[in-house]
Amino acid sequence: MNLPTAREALKKYFGYDSFRPMQDEIIQSVFDKKDTLVLMPTGGGKSVCFQIPAVTLPGTAIVVSPLISLMKDQVEGLRANGIRAAFINSSLPFDELRQVEDDLFNGHLDLLYVSPEKIVSREFLPLLKKVNVNLFAIDEAHCISGWGHDFRPEYSQLQFLKTLNPDVPIIALTATADKVTRRDILKQMGMENAEVFISSFDRPNLSLEVRPGLKRMEQIVRFVKDRQGQSGIIYCLSRKSCEDVAAKLLSKGVKADFYHGRMSSGERSKVQEDFINDVTPVVCATIAFGMGIDKSNVRYVIHYNLPRNMEGYYQEIGRAGRDGVDSETVLFYSFADVMSYRRMYENEPGEQTALKLAKLDRMYQYSTAQVCRRKILLNYFNEHLREDCGNCDICRNPPKLIDGTLNAQKALSAVARTKETVGLNLLVNILRGSRAYAVISGGYHNIKTYGAGADTSYEEWRHIVEQFIHLGYLDIAHDENNKLKLNAASKEVLFDGRKVDIISYESYKKREEEGKKAKTKPKSERERVRDGLFDHLRTLRTKMARKAGIPPYQIFSDKTLEEMAAMRPTEDHEMLDVSGVGEQKMEKYGQAFIKSILGYAKINNIPLSTFKNRQAREVIVPEGKPTLSRPKENIPPEDAGLSTFERTLKYYNQGKNVKEIAEQRNMSPVTIAGHLVKFYTEGGNIDVHRFVSKEEIQAVIDKLPLYIKEEKKMRPVYEALGEKISYDKIRWALAYHEKRMKEIPR
Ligand code: ADP
Ligand code: ZN
Repeated sequence: MNLPTAREALKKYFGYDSFRPMQDEIIQSVFDKKDTLVLMPTGGGKSVCFQIPAVTLPGTAIVVSPLISLMKDQVEGLRANGIRAAFINSSLPFDELRQVEDDLFNGHLDLLYVSPEKIVSREFLPLLKKVNVNLFAIDEAHCISGWGHDFRPEYSQLQFLKTLNPDVPIIALTATADKVTRRDILKQMGMENAEVFISSFDRPNLSLEVRPGLKRMEQIVRFVKDRQGQSGIIYCLSRKSCEDVAAKLLSKGVKADFYHGRMSSGERSKVQEDFINDVTPVVCATIAFGMGIDKSNVRYVIHYNLPRNMEGYYQEIGRAGRDGVDSETVLFYSFADVMSYRRMYENEPGEQTALKLAKLDRMYQYSTAQVCRRKILLNYFNEHLREDCGNCDICRNPPKLIDGTLNAQKALSAVARTKETVGLNLLVNILRGSRAYAVISGGYHNIKTYGAGADTSYEEWRHIVEQFIHLGYLDIAHDENNKLKLNAASKEVLFDGRKVDIISYESYKKREEEGKKAKTKPKSERERVRDGLFDHLRTLRTKMARKAGIPPYQIFSDKTLEEMAAMRPTEDHEMLDVSGVGEQKMEKYGQAFIKSILGYAKINNIPLSTFKNRQAREVIVPEGKPTLSRPKENIPPEDAGLSTFERTLKYYNQGKNVKEIAEQRNMSPVTIAGHLVKFYTEGGNIDVHRFVSKEEIQAVIDKLPLYIKEEKKMRPVYEALGEKISYDKIRWALAYHEKRMKEIPR
């Protein structure tokens, strides 16, 4: 098997034009029958690495996956692309199990997903020995290792796969494995000679933003309301805040729900289902939410509370933007969160406490850092970004340093005058001259610095004093109810004239305003049309998904809809050219979406020619993000004046075949064939028999009633012919027939 075939399969089944970095090398390694270990972040495109070999190699690929709740979803997604997939786990009723086993035995499956319990079970082994397995894929491979964070005992028995059949390559895939875990996976699976692929963990489509946690509820309401209808997750630490945030959003007219461990499993799956199906856009949840779902169009993730460590944070924000579309993440940090974690850890003594505290510190440092956030984040995972990312709050709005010495003197002297008996909140109230009970009853209104900072808001003072703590000018006595204490540095400020630089509060305020401004910036005509059409297509997608009982993103991803909205395809071959439209989906949904585009264009009086303009692709795939763009076509100067369609014809007339033209033009063979079919049906001079024989045409015409009865779908014809005549040939045969019918005089 070779890579051009793999590329063809990628277009045919998934509708993608090119592999992402590393995918092709990984697939080649499997083709070469080498054991392979793949480390890629969530959403990086791991699945394709075993799914493409599975559909191109003879036999069946066995996929071991521990996430039973995901299996059904994954299998349905594959089937929607015309791939023969099934799953076996404990949730499957007996008769369905029988059917799957029969299909497996008879070689009718490209992929079989199996739970680890099942694959190591005694019943399954005899069957496994009888079937032609082309590869074993171990998903979530970190579960093998006791060093990983999600150890599954059954996984450690998987080494029998290598002894069972040493010739079948194993591909192990995971999104989280440090060096020790990696070594452990290789050793336990008996695949020490494996090729190892480690891709960057960067997720450039996720923006990173940290905001101080003051008035976060208001900020969240504003944020969510600005993004009506988009899917988002708001992570909260406690059950109560999940409920409170959801209630607040509801009261502001936002459809939101909550999810936490105290709810019954029935209630929880209802919330999850509604989220997946775009019924409820916003869910306020504890971190368990999102683990068992694969929803690709989560547009933002908000942390209402500080995550406990960087690993968790990265995993949670990673649930946004799996489809590669730009997505936002916002973390609200507050000192109170740090203190409540500390209290919690210190009350549960164990050997891990020091480690947990250290990880918490790193998290807090990340939140308060003043350099590119992505640099810090990737650095934590041992990856080094050379340039600043340009897609975090710091890069977009570099903080401004100001002289904070005077404020430091006021605050530190107040701490001294209260004899180090107050916490953060009370200190700020004293500085602002508040008449709060705690101030008066403590007699703090009598000290000299009472009201010394009355001209500065409460929020700004919190921001300032937190920085003093962070910079080391004030200590917190965790064992004394978090009272503020002076240290050597504070004394230098108070008595030796030491200067203190702090980040201006304006920098923070400005960041939020910048975010708002970006939203209200007037749109260009092109953007307006694109966004309008996108919403229009999204509505159609929801409607069709409801009817079919599947999640909307399984019909087309947001990325695919965005591209459709930008390119406005109105013909089959144009639609097939949209990234994410494979043959099966073209047949099932293509016409409906084309109709919808035509309808929208008519009502809104917009031209449809965008597709012909190749630059449209650049609008949605900006430079520097090569993931989805295909390599540019290299157009010889003498052909520059020709349309894409005319170029295909010219090369065809030079005697080239579809594959050669596709390779020359860096386009998919399906698109090229589409050009030729179109030309032919419009009366062009093409020898059909170069593509399909007389016998094959006759066979297809014999099945014509099926084609007509099934709303002009090719699949029933394909199946009725025993899957022996390819879709391409069927398309040619139908075109031949159509042309003949036109030629009959009436
Ligand atoms: P992972 O398993 O690593 O989390 P997936 O395999 O689910 O990631 O892929 C994430 C998304 O990217 C999916 O929507 C998938 O269809 C898409 N994708 C994968 N490979 C490509 C590619 N070569 N071109 C375009 N999209 C791709
Ligand atoms: Zn940055």
